[in-house]
Amino acid sequence: MPELPEVEITARRLHAALAGATIESALAPGLNALKTFDPPLGAVEGHTLDAVRRRGKHLIVDVAGGLSLLMHLMSAGRLQLFDKRASVRDRSSRLLVRVDGERELRLREFGTRQAAWVKVLATEALGDDDALVALGPEAWPDPPPLRELLAGAGARPLHAVLRDQRVIAGIGRSWVDEILWSAMLSPFKRADDLEDEEADRLREAVVGRLGGAIEHYEATVKLPIPDKMPLPLQVHRHQGEPCPRCGTTIEAVHYESYVMCYCPTDQTGGRVLKDRRLSRLLK
Ligand SMILES: [Zn+2]
Repeated sequence: MPELPEVEITARRLHAALAGATIESALAPGLNALKTFDPPLGAVEGHTLDAVRRRGKHLIVDVAGGLSLLMHLMSAGRLQLFDKRASVRDRSSRLLVRVDGERELRLREFGTRQAAWVKVLATEALGDDDALVALGPEAWPDPPPLRELLAGAGARPLHAVLRDQRVIAGIGRSWVDEILWSAMLSPFKRADDLEDEEADRLREAVVGRLGGAIEHYEATVKLPIPDKMPLPLQVHRHQGEPCPRCGTTIEAVHYESYVMCYCPTDQTGGRVLKDRRLSRLLK
């Protein structure tokens, strides 16, 4: 989180509000988030903000004069637009872009980790940046046929391959659970072992669930962009609750930093997968 749908609605809302605005100043408090130094962040000052757009889970702010800000919100960042300027003591601020009308575009990050980042790059060289050059095709709105695409990713489980941004861009830990549940496929099915019919079902689930989330956000998400997005999740983080389709209890596998959820009846032939956290505790 945030994944493709959350980044897409962020880009749409910010683009509508900011395209054509003049950038008065740009600051990276603490400098930790800024990953480039040439050109300096100040080079965007005085220029018009042309566009806010998305590539994979990245946000791109294009500035007149040929520069772009490339950002990754990582797991706990938000890009928000406020009518008032932040207190310099707001410790969640990673980037402050002040635009005309007293407004402020703010990259904020919640929690203790500082992982979100920003790069200042020439717009024409964006595609060569390490973060973008290796990205696979967009998962939404029109990904390529998945059987061939996933077969090239080797003998790894679907749950891992669909989150591999080099294979397909935009899906993370929340939406992968939803997509696999919608497609009625096991998270541990090998990605290079899909029948045509399964691959078609999976592609339909990818497009349908990501698109459905964006539609939901179009109706619910407003500026300044909420700290907590209203994710329309049915399975992810719903372990212990009944499956919305068949009523079976949703099961979970806990990993160090996230949880994978699935319906045993719909996805794993009734089998409950071993929960590593639980088995570690029982040793
Ligand atoms: Zn079910």
